[in-house]
Amino acid sequence: MTNAPTKIKLHNTKTRKKEVFTPLDADNVRMYVCGPTVYDRAHLGNARPVVVFDVLYRLLRHVYGPEHVTYVRNFTDVDDKINARAAESGRAIGEITEETINWFLGDMGALGALEPNAMPRATAFIPQMVEMIEGLIAAGHAYAAEGHVLFRVRSYEAYGALSGRSVDDMIAGARVEVAPYKEDAMDFVLWKPSGLDLPGWDSPWGRGRPGWHIECSAMAHELLGESFDIHGGGNDLMFPHHENEIAQSCCAHPEGGFAQVWMHNEMLQVEGKKMSKSLGNFFTVRDLLDQGVPGEVIRFVFLSTHYRKPMDWTADKADVARNHLKRMWSLVGPTETQNASEHLPQEFVDALANDLDTHTALQLLIKWTKEGRADDVTAAAHLLGFLCVSEAYDALFDEDWLAEETVEAIEEAIFQWHLARQQRDFSRADKMRGQLLALGIRPVSQEDENSNWVFSNPDFMSDNDNARIIDGIEKMRGEAG
Ligand code: AMP
Ligand code: ZN
Repeated sequence: MTNAPTKIKLHNTKTRKKEVFTPLDADNVRMYVCGPTVYDRAHLGNARPVVVFDVLYRLLRHVYGPEHVTYVRNFTDVDDKINARAAESGRAIGEITEETINWFLGDMGALGALEPNAMPRATAFIPQMVEMIEGLIAAGHAYAAEGHVLFRVRSYEAYGALSGRSVDDMIAGARVEVAPYKEDAMDFVLWKPSGLDLPGWDSPWGRGRPGWHIECSAMAHELLGESFDIHGGGNDLMFPHHENEIAQSCCAHPEGGFAQVWMHNEMLQVEGKKMSKSLGNFFTVRDLLDQGVPGEVIRFVFLSTHYRKPMDWTADKADVARNHLKRMWSLVGPTETQNASEHLPQEFVDALANDLDTHTALQLLIKWTKEGRADDVTAAAHLLGFLCVSEAYDALFDEDWLAEETVEAIEEAIFQWHLARQQRDFSRADKMRGQLLALGIRPVSQEDENSNWVFSNPDFMSDNDNARIIDGIEKMRGEAG
């Protein structure tokens, strides 16, 4: 452990309490997050769990050491929505899933999300699923009927404990499919038959394909073991998906505890309704990026609301976020700095460790930016996944950064300063340097005056900047004669 003093507290859906997080093995902290079904571009709501659990991943890496955290997020690449997309487009399933996975990784990368340690695809774990299903049948928790295998929900007493509801309440509230081969309406599919026109694998129950829930149970078991630390996803997955994962995993591996801590992010909404494909009220991450909203801005807007609260995306929030990010970047300059974490103030880590209080963490960042605490801002921003890559800087300042003539005026002024030094007129050079600094124009490297100069003023914010800089430079040149 590198940072033992940090005590992480996480809200555990299972206990409905905020608890001190104690990993099963501090040398290998393990987290599983349900990933996307890959048939289409991720919408903005899909990105929320990615960003939320990316922050948790970064925090865990900070506290336990990067090599002591294992983060697994799956790709569901066998699903009826994928089959339907293939049928309607005439394209091969593998082509669609491959393309969508690449889109997803590109889009989430643009939001500053690190790639998890493992990104298993369901289709690569069919034997493990079959084995798990066989075990469930042998133990009386599942039964085969008409080419299907179903999980016998009434055989698992704790069913519903995660969401805190009884089986009967859940039946009343859910749209459960009644089918002749089911013993009980609540029973859910572990395996279903596939005709030759659909993806299928040979199994003891004939050619077929897995149900959705068994995927996560089998992949989590294979990659993280029968007990691991954290399981995450959106709260829309709590029932039935996560209840079913727990039932399968705990019945297949009664010795294990499956996930110790369950974490659920609230939904991204559009006018009070969950953003979702089925409601049609969605736009994709790519739409926003293409409209010139930088990934960092999206990330900032997400993190300004606590993950357990619903949130709306608004253009106003994006404007505010952009301004804050510009101030931060302006303070630290467009260089990528590494290993700043040793300067990280504990107050900041503590905010994040308090059930990912990203709102408070951002407030600290904003405050320190105003105070000009460049090192603290760099270190803290890095932990949150900001100011990490210079492409983000370019995206942010791309549009309404300095006008061409301002850039030319700055370049000319810097040239004059170099000239004064060459002519060994140091008093003039120093005066010019002071005036440039006052305008927020300074060398990228404090040690090397001959490095590139940048405009980086923490007070920067308005459209008047161009005029202000040009005025300042004209005044300076007037004085220099
Ligand atoms: P899906 O592909 O629909 O299974 O969703 C992938 C992930 O996105 C899951 O963790 C969902 O909980 C999450 N998700 C879907 N819609 C939203 C939303 N509107 N807000 C936040 N998370 C969402
Ligand atoms: Zn899952």
